[in-house]
Amino acid sequence: MEKHQLPIAIIGAGPVGLVTAAHLLAKGMTPLIFESGSKAGANVELWAHVKMFSPWQSNVDGLAAQLLSAEGWISPPENEYPNGRQLLDGFVQPLANSAQIHSHLRLNTRVLAATRFGHDAMKTQGRSQAPFLLRVAGPAGNEDVLACAVIDASGTYQTPNWMGAHGIPALGEAEHAAHIAYSTPAVLGRDRNRYANKRVLVVGGGHSALNALQDMVRLAQDASQTKVLWAIRGDSAEGSLGSANDPLEQRGKLGLRIRQFLDEGRIELFTNVAIDQVIGNSKGLTVKAGEQVLPTIDELIVATGFRPDLSVLTELRTAVDPATQSAMLLAPLIDPNQHSCGTVRLHGAEELVHPEENFFIVGMKSYGRAPTFLLKTGYEQVRSVVEALEHSLNVTKRAELTLPESDLCNVD
Ligand SMILES: Cc1cc2nc3c(=O)[nH]c(=O)nc-3n(C[C@H](O)[C@H](O)[C@H](O)COP(=O)(O)OP(=O)(O)OC[C@H]3O[C@@H](n4cnc5c(N)ncnc54)[C@H](O)[C@@H]3O)c2cc1C
Repeated sequence: MEKHQLPIAIIGAGPVGLVTAAHLLAKGMTPLIFESGSKAGANVELWAHVKMFSPWQSNVDGLAAQLLSAEGWISPPENEYPNGRQLLDGFVQPLANSAQIHSHLRLNTRVLAATRFGHDAMKTQGRSQAPFLLRVAGPAGNEDVLACAVIDASGTYQTPNWMGAHGIPALGEAEHAAHIAYSTPAVLGRDRNRYANKRVLVVGGGHSALNALQDMVRLAQDASQTKVLWAIRGDSAEGSLGSANDPLEQRGKLGLRIRQFLDEGRIELFTNVAIDQVIGNSKGLTVKAGEQVLPTIDELIVATGFRPDLSVLTELRTAVDPATQSAMLLAPLIDPNQHSCGTVRLHGAEELVHPEENFFIVGMKSYGRAPTFLLKTGYEQVRSVVEALEHSLNVTKRAELTLPESDLCNVD
């Protein structure tokens, strides 16, 4: 088959992968989306109980909304804030099931590796003419699929950071995995019994940690023996709590709520905690941070962020920033060592480019280990990447794009 007749492979049918497919279709290109879960939005499903801090208008892509509206979809109220479940039911599933996209989606199919046909990462000659080859594991076993471009939108939710302060697991972290949950367990839902009337330490200073703390305090109101402890790396919680001026109103309100819980003594805060060991004994678990030994607990909720799984891409020529593990040129815009806020200036194919022609990482994974990715940003990335592919692959059908402005991020 001619290379230009091959589909454009999309890894992951999260919101960004599906929106990518909508943009490709609008430009006359053929997507082929591989989703490891049994449904689209499998990662969002894992945080379905979490209320989003961006309203519907920022969570829905304009072009995808047009595609859906043509099929009778009713746009959700733009100023309301959905939780993950509502995002799935109101946008992700309708898009996955839409007449245009459905036939391009392969569920229960995990991409194991992406490479170039006949080329390992080392071989240059004829590289850019060779199609991409994806090794996928689906219901019928393993198979190799060819594509003319690859867009990795596989997110980072399945690879959370460790609790250990040194980037590797704390001593004992693996052994006590049965009592450690990562990111955002459903404290008030399916995981309730695990945390009710237990001593629970939440680790981390980001919004997932704040969400977990909020749910734990609410649980403690019903289950009075529940104890909520919070450990952060810094010497104050101020940076985590933000302010009422947060451009994302709901995020600001969450910070204010946690501040109030701290003032009321509902959360016991431990600062300067760089965890290096978890020890189990007959009374529970003890976390050690250098000389500091925290009170004994029953359960840990580790909300210390995510990292990308780059193992799928080792045979492609990627340019990944050594610190953020985002695309190299994107790093200066999002590096939390330099930036203090959650809004990043408009960026697209130019910043997301890799030495491997016609290959892009978009969405949550494009940020690597850097936090503060927003769907709105991902949708902007996708428009630009699809436009770049349209030119690069010489697609003839054209449509007009208007890129929205976004806020410039303050630099410390
Ligand atoms: C708790 C939480 C709350 C958030 N709240 C907000 C918010 O309020 N506003 C906002 O804008 N953003 C928010 N985000 C950030 C971000 O927008 C979401 O993580 C969003 O889901 C990212 O979309 P995505 O499509 O890039 O990745 P994901 O939604 O993670 O989708 C990736 C998909 O790829 C699939 N996949 C993974 N590996 C493979 C593979 N090898 N082969 C095939 N398929 C694979 C997964 O199953 C998944 O379906 C939040 C994130 C979290 C974790």
